[in-house]
Amino acid sequence: MSRLRERTTPCDEFRRLARRVTLLLAAEATKDLPVAETEVDTPLERARVRRLSSRVVAVPVLRAGLGMLDAFLELVPQAEVGYFGLERNEETAEARRYYEKVPKDLASAVVFLLDPMLATGGSAQMALDGLGGLGAVQVRLLSIVSAPEGVAHLSEVAPEAIIFTAALDRGLNDRKYILPGLGDFGDRLFGT
Ligand code: URA
Repeated sequence: MSRLRERTTPCDEFRRLARRVTLLLAAEATKDLPVAETEVDTPLERARVRRLSSRVVAVPVLRAGLGMLDAFLELVPQAEVGYFGLERNEETAEARRYYEKVPKDLASAVVFLLDPMLATGGSAQMALDGLGGLGAVQVRLLSIVSAPEGVAHLSEVAPEAIIFTAALDRGLNDRKYILPGLGDFGDRLFGT
């Protein structure tokens, strides 16, 4: 987290670290998923094993959430993937949805929303509303840095969503950036 925050960290290292933090978050966020017992033949004998039994859908919020997707799929390779494109208006900090392609019938799935910066909670709320409209009932939000304002907002408007975050920071500045935060995650990830 210290190197992710540091302003001089180059984007190749930033990507690597975002991936590593996401892997840890994803391990925590998936550890109670239902499993089914089955058996396999090892070279020596039969062994009882457990396999993930729930349907998993990962939904990165474009574009910053893309920095979390590979790590999530490394841990849950069978996950289906959907996308929300949300754009933040730099003047008002309000989110606008410009793209949506998400698997249907989400009621049977555990959905993992990947959005690395939980600032005001506005874009996460928009994504959660969209997922709710597609039937999602079990949603877990994976964020790398969160602001207390965003956590409080989501607890109010989407109390059923579970938040996993690597850092809970101090608050937001007047442009709704997280402090101390790490700046614009998408810009740092893509070098823009
Ligand atoms: N989005 C970012 O990328 N950074 C912030 O600090 C807040 C929202």
